[in-house]
Amino acid sequence: MKTKDNIATRLKKDLIMSGQYGREPQRTVSNYSQLDPDKGVTRPTGTEANKKVRDFCVQRMLDANLEVKIDMIGNIYGRKEGSKINDGIVMCGSHLDSVLNGGQFDGALGVFSSIEAIRRLTEEHFENERPIEVVIFTGEEGSAFGSTLLGSAVLAGKIRIDDALMQKNTNGQTLKNALEAIGYLGNFKKQLDSVDCFIETHIEQGPVLYNEGISIGIVENIVGIAWVTVTVTGQSNHAGTTPMKMRKDALLAAAEIVTAVNRNANEILKTRGSGLVGTVGKLVVYPNGVNIVPGKVELGIDIRDVLEENMLIMIERTRTFMKELESRYGVAVDIKISPTHAPAHLSMDVMQIIEDSTRRCGLSFKRMNSGAGHDAQNMATKVKTGMIFIPSVDGISHSPLEWTTWDDIENGTAVLTQTIRTLSKLDRK
Ligand SMILES: [Zn+2]
Repeated sequence: MKTKDNIATRLKKDLIMSGQYGREPQRTVSNYSQLDPDKGVTRPTGTEANKKVRDFCVQRMLDANLEVKIDMIGNIYGRKEGSKINDGIVMCGSHLDSVLNGGQFDGALGVFSSIEAIRRLTEEHFENERPIEVVIFTGEEGSAFGSTLLGSAVLAGKIRIDDALMQKNTNGQTLKNALEAIGYLGNFKKQLDSVDCFIETHIEQGPVLYNEGISIGIVENIVGIAWVTVTVTGQSNHAGTTPMKMRKDALLAAAEIVTAVNRNANEILKTRGSGLVGTVGKLVVYPNGVNIVPGKVELGIDIRDVLEENMLIMIERTRTFMKELESRYGVAVDIKISPTHAPAHLSMDVMQIIEDSTRRCGLSFKRMNSGAGHDAQNMATKVKTGMIFIPSVDGISHSPLEWTTWDDIENGTAVLTQTIRTLSKLDRK
C-alpha cells in the first residue's frame, strides 16, 4: 500500500520531468525560486520539444497500463477499460503544447493529474464500470498553427479535419507534415458519441483563487472570445510641412478606437452586467517614424464575455463608432471579425459531482467563470463537461513566472480522482 506522500511525489515527478521540455537550456524546475523570469517553457505543436513531451507522456500512459491511440489530428488517448460497458466513456485531460515562453503547468497539469488519478484508482482496485480515457489535445494554444483549440475543435466537429491539417505554421509547414515529422499523425477515428462526459483540470490563470485563499474553482461558464482586426488607412506625410488641417492621420483615428473600446466595454458592463471585457492589445503604426504623419495603423481588439449577446452588442457599437471616424479623419477603416469561440455553459450535473467531491476531500471551493479559453468549451458542445480550477500564484500565467504550489496540485488531483470515481460508476452515486 502506498502512502499519500508517495503518490503525491510521483505526480510531482511527472510534472517536473515534463516541464524540462521546451526550456532552453533543458533543465528541471521544482520550486518557484528556480524559475528564470526570462526563460519559460516553449513547445508549440510540431516542435522537437513538443515531440519530447508527448513521448514522455505516452510512456507514462503505457506504464499505467493504458491503451494508447493517436487520432488523425494528433490527439492522444490513453484508455482504461470499463468493467461493465465499453462506451459512455469518462474522458479527462488537457493539452501539452505551450505558448512561447510559458509555464510548465498550463495544460500539463490536466494531463498528468488525469494519469495520476487512474494510477490511484487502479492501485486501490477500484472497479470503474465505464471506461476512463485520458486525452491530450493537439494545438490548444495556437502558438504554431494560427487557430487555438484545434484538436478539440476537430474532435467536436467544429472544424473539418482536412482544413485543420492544411493550416500552416510560420515556416510554411502544414500541420499534417509537422505531425508526421514528430511521429504523431495517427489514423484512429475517435467518435464523440462513445464519450459521456469530459473533465478538464487546469490552473486558474487568474488571481481569484490565490487571492481569496480558496483551493478549488468549479467552472460554470467559459467566456466566448471575439477578435476584431482593424486597419486604419490614412496618408503618410511630412510632419513638418503638412498643415494640421490637411492631414489624414491614421494614428489619431486609431487613438479614438482605443478609448472607444474601453468606454463601450465599461458602459455595457454598467448597463447589462455580466463580465464583459474589451481590450486593444495590439497596435502597429506605419511607417512608425517620429517625423512622419502615420499613414496606416493596425489594431487588434479582444472581446470576451459569458453572454454572447453582450459580445455582439459590443462589436456592433464599436463597429458603428469606427465607421464614423472615416469622414471625421479622412481615413478608411477596414474591419475584420475573426471566427469567434462562443461562450460555453458547463454541465450542472458534472458541477454538482465536482462540488460533492470537493466537500468529501474537505477543501474550500467557489463557483466561477473562466476568462481564458479551454478545450473544454469545444467538448461542452457535444458532451457533459466540467472544469476544476486550482490557484495560480499571483494569478500569473502565459509567463515564465507561472507557478502553482504542490499542495494545490495535490488538492486538485484528489478532487479529480474522486470526481472520476463517481462519474465512472453507472449509477453515479
Ligand atoms: Zn491551457
